[in-house]
Amino acid sequence: MIEKRQFYINGQWVDPVTPNDHHVINPATEEPCAVISLGSQEDTNTAIAAAKAALPGWMETPAEERIAALERVFDAYLTRSEDLAQAMSQTMGAPIDLARTSQVGAGSYHLKNFIRAAKAFEWERPLSDRAPDTMILHEPVGVCALITPWNWPMNQVTLKVGAALVAGNTMVLKPSEETPLDAMIFAEIMDAADLPPGVFNLVNGDGVGVGTQLTTHKDVDMVSFTGSTRAGTLISKAAADTIKRVHLELGGKGANLVFADADEKAVKRSVLHMMQNTGQSCNAPSRMLVESSVYDKVVEEAAAVASKVQVGPSSEEGRHIGPVVNEAQWNKIQGLIQKGIDEGARLVAGGTGRPDGLNKGFYVRPTVFADVTNDMTIAQEEIFGPVMAILKFENEDEAVAIANDTDYGLTNYVQSQDQARCNRLSRKLRSGMVEMNGVGRGAGAPFGGMKMSGNGREGGSWGIHDFVEIKAVSGWAE
Ligand code: NAD
Repeated sequence: MIEKRQFYINGQWVDPVTPNDHHVINPATEEPCAVISLGSQEDTNTAIAAAKAALPGWMETPAEERIAALERVFDAYLTRSEDLAQAMSQTMGAPIDLARTSQVGAGSYHLKNFIRAAKAFEWERPLSDRAPDTMILHEPVGVCALITPWNWPMNQVTLKVGAALVAGNTMVLKPSEETPLDAMIFAEIMDAADLPPGVFNLVNGDGVGVGTQLTTHKDVDMVSFTGSTRAGTLISKAAADTIKRVHLELGGKGANLVFADADEKAVKRSVLHMMQNTGQSCNAPSRMLVESSVYDKVVEEAAAVASKVQVGPSSEEGRHIGPVVNEAQWNKIQGLIQKGIDEGARLVAGGTGRPDGLNKGFYVRPTVFADVTNDMTIAQEEIFGPVMAILKFENEDEAVAIANDTDYGLTNYVQSQDQARCNRLSRKLRSGMVEMNGVGRGAGAPFGGMKMSGNGREGGSWGIHDFVEIKAVSGWAE
């Protein structure tokens, strides 16, 4: 078993002040795969002090040198791809091929986009031609606490660290206690990139411990958090007393509007998107809204596609989906599937229990419900598993009303070959992102939500913007 109890503080691996062992469970085997230590208040304080001490030097480092540092991080990241993939696969259950491609690939993609965005970023610029003596400076926010979830671990770590670093901030990363190993490899990557000590620090811990210590500490200027809306609310309250900037990327319950004129691959594409990463994506298209004239046909096709989705061990290569992350999540998903049945939705694929032949591991059957109404629990709660709900609509206005009738507002989807309709709907849907006809966002596009999905934007130049203070200086002269 892997033993990695140390934290990365002030450019060194250090022992915890008070060891507090935590076993990391492999969800495919239900067996521990590693032991780490959860940090204490003293560990958190030391890490924050290191970040605070490093801040003046790092914020004065010219942007070109910070960009060069990020380029070194990017190069080092590429050399550790396989280690990162294995770590993520073992701890959160991503099938190894998905871990190698999408999970690891997301990290390098974001780092590359930050390098490009930082080179084009106007760190200092005059207000306007009419006010050339007013200078706008973009400065780092300060000491940042970066708190990340387990579902797309490297995606989240790089989105936060890449932006914070290049903007001149110093930081303490607290990764999810479910996926600490990949984050510790990432700390080795940061070490290899030869940054000044204290610019980047990592302390492991859970939400009630290190998470809360970070969000209440007076020397932390900003909290950037990705995770559940539940924790986002607690963090906002915890950070209020010291007026920290709080940047939140939270849950979702994406609507996917499927019209009668959707292209012939739309349903299959949508179901597979839902099942990707075993449904553990904040932007999953978990509510499929279908125009009534094609409803029966779409339900049949969605059920057939879901029934063919293979479930298997994360260590095996292939296109199957893996287990969900842990027992608590497995139990929650089982309860919600049962709730869907009890509230009268029609089960057309999957159901409760484990898939055939998988008696150990937190495996869930790819599940589709039809005849769901938007007031049902499975239409309102983020399930975070391979479970899709299908609802019927009669016309565009009703589709928009159902789509927007949710606490969340992260990503919505439209499937229609009527481009004018797609564009019209993209304006009416209340979400930070709208994806039409399976076309992915361009490199450096902002990722983030509205309403209870959060308030931040990550990636590219918008991601950097969220990590800077804006200072107006008058009386400037060259
Ligand atoms: P979680 O909220 O349980 O934990 C996320 C992180 O926050 C972990 O590091 C955890 O230790 C820490 N934490 C928990 N409670 C805390 C507290 N009170 N104070 C400080 N830190 C605390 O979420 P999770 O289960 O790890 O991740 C799944 C959730 O993340 C889902 O709801 C998903 O939608 C969301 N998510 C959102 C995005 C996005 O960009 N919007 C991306 C990925 C995941």
